[in-house]
Amino acid sequence: MNLIFLGPPGSGKGTQAAKLEKDLNIPKLSTGDMLRKAIFDKTPLGNQAKSIIDSGALVPDEIMINMITERISYPDCQQGFILDGFPRTIIQAEALDQTLTNLGKKIDLVLELKVDDNAIIERTSGRFSCAKCNHSYNKKYRNTKLPGICDECGSDKFIYREDDDPKAVANRLKAYHSLTEKLLPYYKNQGKLFTINGMEDIDEVSNKINLIIKTKSNLLT
Ligand code: AMP
Repeated sequence: MNLIFLGPPGSGKGTQAAKLEKDLNIPKLSTGDMLRKAIFDKTPLGNQAKSIIDSGALVPDEIMINMITERISYPDCQQGFILDGFPRTIIQAEALDQTLTNLGKKIDLVLELKVDDNAIIERTSGRFSCAKCNHSYNKKYRNTKLPGICDECGSDKFIYREDDDPKAVANRLKAYHSLTEKLLPYYKNQGKLFTINGMEDIDEVSNKINLIIKTKSNLLT
């Protein structure tokens, strides 16, 4: 099963995609994570993308299309994949459809997490993640159980994203509303779009997603 998560920054795409990755045993492909790794590794792409990402703007389509086209051709995507953060523009969505058609594949399901802008601003302001295993937390809603220790892997190193600062979040929301939201009618017309209220708590959202997937397939029995 090939899935896409759509939603504004901080809507819970990454968290829900990580849960599904475990449940369905197919990889989560996060273009944001790939770009952050390229920045960390100081690759030419990372150096080029850093200032764009920090400002909250979008990285050029061509770069992102090449990145994801290569990734979905890896053997671990054979049984399916979960896209988190791609596509973000119509050009990316059309390129993805074309690539998948060439591979004899298709997108099966697009899950939109709907969250108010005000909630996004509040959520992103408290967000941080484990530097080792990438597990995500929030100072206000979902802190570590033991102060300063990751619940999942025990690491004491955490990352606060530069693009979670309020000015960058405002730009990211602008990019979402002006460009990425155009994907909703695109996938609705293909009969693939399901919208979930992302304002509910993580487990509730997860249950709804599992229900949608269950009705689409027998993967989650
Ligand atoms: P994310 O972690 O998905 O919120 O992505 C962080 C940042 O990476 C975004 O604000 C963009 O600057 C960049 N980015 C990630 N995915 C894409 C994409 N598909 N197209 C353009 N820029 C992207």
